[in-house]
Amino acid sequence: PRLANQIAAGEVVERPASVAKELLENALDAGATRIELDVEEGGVKLLRIRDDGHGIAHDQLPLALARHATSKIAELADLEGVQSLGFRGEALASISSVARLCLTSRTADAGEAWQVEAEGRDMQPSVQPAAHPVGTTVQVRDLFYNTPARRKFLRTEKTEFDRLQEVVRRMALARFDVAFHLRHNGRQVFALHSAAEDSARARRIGQLLGDGFLEQALPIDVERNGLRLWGWVGLPTFSRSQADMQYFYVNGRIVRDKLVGHAVRQAYRDVLYGGRHPAFVLYLELDPNLVDVNVHPTKHEVRFRDGRTVHDFLYSTLNRSLADVRP
Ligand code: ADP
Ligand code: MG
Repeated sequence: PRLANQIAAGEVVERPASVAKELLENALDAGATRIELDVEEGGVKLLRIRDDGHGIAHDQLPLALARHATSKIAELADLEGVQSLGFRGEALASISSVARLCLTSRTADAGEAWQVEAEGRDMQPSVQPAAHPVGTTVQVRDLFYNTPARRKFLRTEKTEFDRLQEVVRRMALARFDVAFHLRHNGRQVFALHSAAEDSARARRIGQLLGDGFLEQALPIDVERNGLRLWGWVGLPTFSRSQADMQYFYVNGRIVRDKLVGHAVRQAYRDVLYGGRHPAFVLYLELDPNLVDVNVHPTKHEVRFRDGRTVHDFLYSTLNRSLADVRP
């Protein structure tokens, strides 16, 4: 099973950023309202993520590390309506096959917390009592310590951390209702409180993308025929320090989609903002029945029932908003 896990790990666990993504998704699936990440050496030495979600019961702890053990689909038929972010049941098993993993958790109705460790062992991990508030901490140490070939493919500490930070940024942009804290080598990188009001949301945008963006971005919020587009579009006066500041969410999920990209580019170009790479954070909300976001779990593509209407709505909304402020 160990070899199978390591092979599977190749798909799920490419680098610290992909480990962070899986663990963050698990925390969100568990209903966390506060997530803390502690990272050392780009996430290779240590990646610890603590959440205040519903936790894992004592008897479920060893199972959580088993391959294809997921608590998220009762029946195959459920796959049709999967709402949770993770449903393959192999992230923890894969991670534990290529790193030293320690899982500590406590459920609300349990008097104490429990811990399992998986470290290059095939045997059933033993469950030990531990101290922990309701919620879960997953600690991942020494990523790829036992797969040196994989380790060689890792880039510099800075590059790996940048990617990991980008994963956190994308999630923090999707979930204003969740507090995110990120530390790297003891230094605070993000301290984001949950943000219900508009002003608090804007503050989070500034913290994640820089105040420079916020100062030169146009907030928009337009609703028409059951489609709502809101967010911030960068004006051409905004000069980016970051290579790619294009975030588009459909019903809370980040998306990189041809149709969306085309509509946005076209809108910028037609108000003579052409030539530049626009920066934006946009949220499209529509009836979930009119969009299929599970086309591929990692490719971030979507399929709209009526692509034409969505394209026209995006184009005209952005085009009008940008035209209003054209210098
Ligand atoms: P999946 O998320 O696809 O179900 P994982 O390997 O990521 O598979 O996790 C295995 C199981 O461990 C999950 O189904 C869930 O029951 C439990 N689990 C993992 N992380 C957490 C967490 N942070 N809080 C609560 N339960 C968790
Ligand atoms: Mg998962």
